[in-house]
Amino acid sequence: MEDLYVLLDKAETNEDYRVILEKLRWADGFTCPRCGERKAYRIHSRKLLECSSCRAQVSATSGTFLHGVKNLGSWVKAILSFLQSEGKSTVVMAGLLNRSYVTTWYMMQKIRMVLGERLISHTEEAVLLPCSILKAALFKASAEEDLLVPAPSFSSDEGSLKCAAFLVGYLLGVFQGVSRKYSQLYAFEHKLRRESYKLEVFSFLACFLIGRKALRREILGYRAPYMIVS
Ligand SMILES: [Zn+2]
Repeated sequence: MEDLYVLLDKAETNEDYRVILEKLRWADGFTCPRCGERKAYRIHSRKLLECSSCRAQVSATSGTFLHGVKNLGSWVKAILSFLQSEGKSTVVMAGLLNRSYVTTWYMMQKIRMVLGERLISHTEEAVLLPCSILKAALFKASAEEDLLVPAPSFSSDEGSLKCAAFLVGYLLGVFQGVSRKYSQLYAFEHKLRRESYKLEVFSFLACFLIGRKALRREILGYRAPYMIVS
């Protein structure tokens, strides 16, 4: 992976980032996602590889979470921003990536969904927090109060309370509060940032070169459970 670090350091254009993702996806050489063939021809004009057996034309992001995205540079930068211990609001990220607020919001939300699915669901020491504890940092929480699940033994658990306090501070400090609908994703993000020093850049990036495309309606339709795993 040594040369990938050098490439990432120097990357400027979308083409530079495409080369990195291709090297990362096919680190052991090309494998056709459709038929498993190892040989492919490059179609230079279209930045694609054509499988020598089934003729499927694939790119580094074909059939992955990043399927069809343009501006690979912005995407890679947005993904890697989750490895910084400090979070950034959508407004700040939009400025850094030079994209519109709406585009940036979708990007960040999609990245959060992938991370929630891929990384932190396997956590060993998850702490369950009822949404009522996080009410101060959640929009629309009071309207749905009757739906909250009570956790009777929670107040005696000092560790969970500390954890909730940090999370509330993060949600209010960075985002000025978040929608309850996405609160679980932000809780994942908070946990990830605290533990990001343990993660290796390219293994992290590789999480986005699997899976499948996330549709806008899935992002908008996402709902957090009534208990937040922090
Ligand atoms: Zn093939």
